[in-house]
Amino acid sequence: MLKFDVLIVGSGLAGMTLALHLAEKRKVGLITKRDLLEGNSTYAQGGIAAVLDNDDSVEDHIRDTLIAGAGLCDEEATRFIVEHSKEAIDWLIDLGVPFTRDDSHQTGYHLTREGGHSHRRIIHAADATGAAVISTLGQKIKAHPNIAELEDYIAIDLITAHKLGLPGNRAFGAYALDKNRDEVVTIAAQHTILASGGAGKVYLYTTNPDTATGDGIAMGWRAGCRVGNMEFIQFHPTCLYHPHAKSFLISEAVRGEGGILKLPDGTRFMPQHDPRGELAPRDVVARAIDFEMKKHGLDCVYLDISYKPASFIQEHFPNIYAHCLELGIDITQQPIPVVPAVHFTCGGIVTDLKGQTDVEGLYAVGEVACTGLHGANRLASNSLLECLVIGKAAAADILAGKPIKLPTIPDWDDSRVTDPDEEVVISHNWDELRRAMWDYVGIVRTSKRLERALHRIDLLKAEIDEYYSHFHVSNDLIELRNLVQAAELIVRSAMLRKESRGLHFSLDYPDPLPQTGDTILQPGAPAQA
Ligand SMILES: Cc1cc2nc3c(=O)[nH]c(=O)nc-3n(C[C@H](O)[C@H](O)[C@H](O)COP(=O)(O)OP(=O)(O)OC[C@H]3O[C@@H](n4cnc5c(N)ncnc54)[C@H](O)[C@@H]3O)c2cc1C
Repeated sequence: MLKFDVLIVGSGLAGMTLALHLAEKRKVGLITKRDLLEGNSTYAQGGIAAVLDNDDSVEDHIRDTLIAGAGLCDEEATRFIVEHSKEAIDWLIDLGVPFTRDDSHQTGYHLTREGGHSHRRIIHAADATGAAVISTLGQKIKAHPNIAELEDYIAIDLITAHKLGLPGNRAFGAYALDKNRDEVVTIAAQHTILASGGAGKVYLYTTNPDTATGDGIAMGWRAGCRVGNMEFIQFHPTCLYHPHAKSFLISEAVRGEGGILKLPDGTRFMPQHDPRGELAPRDVVARAIDFEMKKHGLDCVYLDISYKPASFIQEHFPNIYAHCLELGIDITQQPIPVVPAVHFTCGGIVTDLKGQTDVEGLYAVGEVACTGLHGANRLASNSLLECLVIGKAAAADILAGKPIKLPTIPDWDDSRVTDPDEEVVISHNWDELRRAMWDYVGIVRTSKRLERALHRIDLLKAEIDEYYSHFHVSNDLIELRNLVQAAELIVRSAMLRKESRGLHFSLDYPDPLPQTGDTILQPGAPAQA
């Protein structure tokens, strides 16, 4: 058994922020299912939204967030996070994150603009902001004596009072598979944090890396946490369309710096869909592209920034330029083929502004959580900001808490399971689930499609549960069990929303309702919208 003051599940920006804020005073165990730097955070390109420019204001950033969130943002959460944005960026600068400089600007940094933002307020490190932030924080984590980083450990389930047959419901850590030794370890902790990211891999096409399988959402749900607003799945409008490009995003900043969306014959189409053109919020742009692709029977549309000077493109988008060139697309000369793909999970485990969940001692921070900031649609570059601000607040809450006596925790019992007879069940169900979600629970939904999806998910879930109860756990089985759980939560939430709002668009209910609220699912209770 391993024992820590605090167990953090996940080493993205949320997990790393928490670890660094806690480590001066607590022993931290940071487990991560691949290597330390792998996760959505590393792939973030555009940057982090923050009020840094003298001409910008907290009120404007809040207003932009609320407009994008289509009436469902929690105003208190939005204000709290935006008000702490400058402090969060200062912390990263102090840690040495190499943000792109612009000495002519009052801040000394270059601020870019993205869709839905009324000001230039995105601080970035060229077009690879996440990699710059995560590698800088990762070095601090590795050097810190109070942080044990355990790579290739995948959390399976939380250990809770409820599961131990004790009164109340408190988390005491988690069981995790040590993938190198193929052995399940018990990790006991006073406080447990889910920082395990979103669930993009529930869908066939996504910009997310393989780690985004909704593990924390499923674990939290199984432990008794409410889950909110899972129907709001953000599709990034512009993922590179190329047979050899796995999940490569063409950053929002390309449109922010003047990129124009075109049909194959060169016709610009965004102004017909929205007066803000290419700078309309992501859901509007993604739906417009989906509409044009379906209308004209296209495999992709094109994003053209080639009319700008080549030096400007190479300087602002060095990674996108280099990656596209490797695939034979010179973006200084020709338009980029793009399609929409699942990008961000707006909903998640319901938390307060300290990251506390419904289970005592259990926190959820980052994309796994639903604080209310994103409402029905996330404003670009607000998510890294949320990891930083809520991560710090959660750490402060944990540091203010009193130590508890941990109960006796039994070891993982695998005496009644055997080695799997065939793995094809996992690979088949994995593909079937992701295809069903893509086809039936995509950008445009109908009640019939949602019913079809739920029917298939029920069958898959029963089969996966049966497999799980008979065979030794593996990485793929753990992820598949979580994927199907996350898929069920998305579909059930979508079925409850009898309107179109933000990222949820239904042909059966095309208009927003005058009165609406969050979709909250409670384990073991009837759902309410
Ligand atoms: C291509 C791309 C570009 C983006 N660009 C931007 C941007 O410019 N600005 C912005 O604000 N946002 C952006 N986002 C969104 C943003 O990157 C994410 O919302 C944010 O990084 C989430 O951070 P996180 O720490 O919550 O999760 P992640 O960074 O995804 O980290 C999750 C961690 O949990 C681990 N994990 C998961 N399950 C388990 C388990 N069972 N056991 C152990 N470990 C586990 C993973 O391995 C990983 O280390 C982008 C996302 C993508 C995919």
